[in-house]
Amino acid sequence: MAVVLLIVLLVAHLALAYWYGHVEAVPPQLAMLAVQAMAVWAVFTRYRRSPALIRLPWLLLAVAVSMQMLWDSTNVLASVLGDKGGYLAALATVLSALYMIPCMFMSTRSFTMHEPRAVAVLDLVLLFMVAVLVYQFFTTLLSGPLASDPASIHVVVDLADAIDFSLAAMAIVRLFGARSFRWRFFYYTAGAYLLVNATVACIYNRMEMHGLPWWAGSLIDIPHALLVVVVLRQPPRWLRSYHPSLGVSQTIASFAPILLATMVVMLCISTSRFNFVPSLVVGALAVLFYGLRVAFIQSRQIDQQRAIDQSAWRLEQQLGRDPLTGIANRVTLDKRLRETMEEGRRTGRFCSLLMIDIDYFKQYNDSFGHIAGDACLVQVAGALTRSRVRVHDLVARYGGEEFAIVLIDTSMDMAQEVARRLITAIEHLQIAHPACPLGRLSISIGVATQTAQTPIDPVVMLAEADHALYRAKHNGRNRFEAGAGDVGPSSVLAGASNA
Ligand code: GH3
Ligand code: MG
Ligand code: MG
Repeated sequence: MAVVLLIVLLVAHLALAYWYGHVEAVPPQLAMLAVQAMAVWAVFTRYRRSPALIRLPWLLLAVAVSMQMLWDSTNVLASVLGDKGGYLAALATVLSALYMIPCMFMSTRSFTMHEPRAVAVLDLVLLFMVAVLVYQFFTTLLSGPLASDPASIHVVVDLADAIDFSLAAMAIVRLFGARSFRWRFFYYTAGAYLLVNATVACIYNRMEMHGLPWWAGSLIDIPHALLVVVVLRQPPRWLRSYHPSLGVSQTIASFAPILLATMVVMLCISTSRFNFVPSLVVGALAVLFYGLRVAFIQSRQIDQQRAIDQSAWRLEQQLGRDPLTGIANRVTLDKRLRETMEEGRRTGRFCSLLMIDIDYFKQYNDSFGHIAGDACLVQVAGALTRSRVRVHDLVARYGGEEFAIVLIDTSMDMAQEVARRLITAIEHLQIAHPACPLGRLSISIGVATQTAQTPIDPVVMLAEADHALYRAKHNGRNRFEAGAGDVGPSSVLAGASNA
């Protein structure tokens, strides 16, 4: 239906232009505006139907096309009312300069949530200044003393072409970097429109220098008619199947801002012949803003990296902790034991390992329930942590009701001393346990000490300490035994033996 209406308008435009015989006549220009209005409507429709993140670029495209339409409306108004003070011509120049802002904005922004707001503000300020510069440039050449020079119009037309084709090129480059179909469709539409618009403007402006034929106005219909068709019809199949790699996509997205800065600098070089100081200022600002943008993004990335490092560290800590007691778990124990053994071998200051097991804990659970059992494990873990020798010694939950302590630079004698102290410390907790012969909760400990011959393997130390622990259990519990690697079995437990 819309396409039929479009064809009717295109034919009407041609027929009216033929009838009136020249481009400036009002009725054919009204037909042209109607085609442009259809293009604006089509893009707005797409804007309303798009998901939130991609709405802004569609809106920018709609604004750009609306500006084209307003710009052409000033010609119609000038034909109807006359343009005595040259205000309408000035307005047309303003609109032609402002038209660049949405076009540049949609092709050079990354439109991601991660980009700092300040970057968008900088881009907007820069683009606004570019528009002012272009406006100044156009007015200098078209209405000042230079206006009578035929070369001026060539300079303006060349610059306008350069801008138009650069805008189209930027949109097309973005098309090949877009990873989602919706974005590819947007850049495909914008790129097609901007490219055809640039081509038509290039031809039209050059024809205008020699006097326009009656049908020239219909050329301006082409990009707008194309826009309606592209927006309303099914997109081509390759647009769905094309998938740029992540590398290509990221390169193009990061490249877009430098493209903007380059384009602005080139523009400033072209305009500097006539407006030296403003061109210099805008050119310098383009480079400065690019630098600021990089600085903003980098500082945001550093913040993000810090947050990631922190959460990775927290996660690592959590992975290495026992959730019930909060002390180290088996993972940390293995790691630390290996490191400590390596250190011991290197320095000759050997470490010791204590394997600790709560006596008759099954009965404890049976008597008081598992919740009380858990609370008891927490209490024991706390007491063991408080009674270790140094802060660097590692107290870990080996599993179930078994704990292990890595004692750095600790001889067998010292380790036995610690074991004795731990047994006493647990007794002093005075946790009632009817199944124990003393009526209080007790622990048994196996002690192992590294020697020059011990292989650097946590399993060897763990096995030796476990073996000693087994003997402590066998020999009556509430006691410690030393591993076979050093001094012989011991049951020296002042007042703590249940034997
Ligand atoms: P022994 O003196 O020979 O060590 O006897 P025990 O009953 O302590 O030994 P055993 O290994 O047979 O039983 C250990 C019990 O520890 C079995 C299980 O019910 C209990 N247990 C293991 N992990 C947990 C835990 O996380 N919470 C609670 N409440 N109990 C646990
Ligand atoms: Mg056990
Ligand atoms: Mg036990």
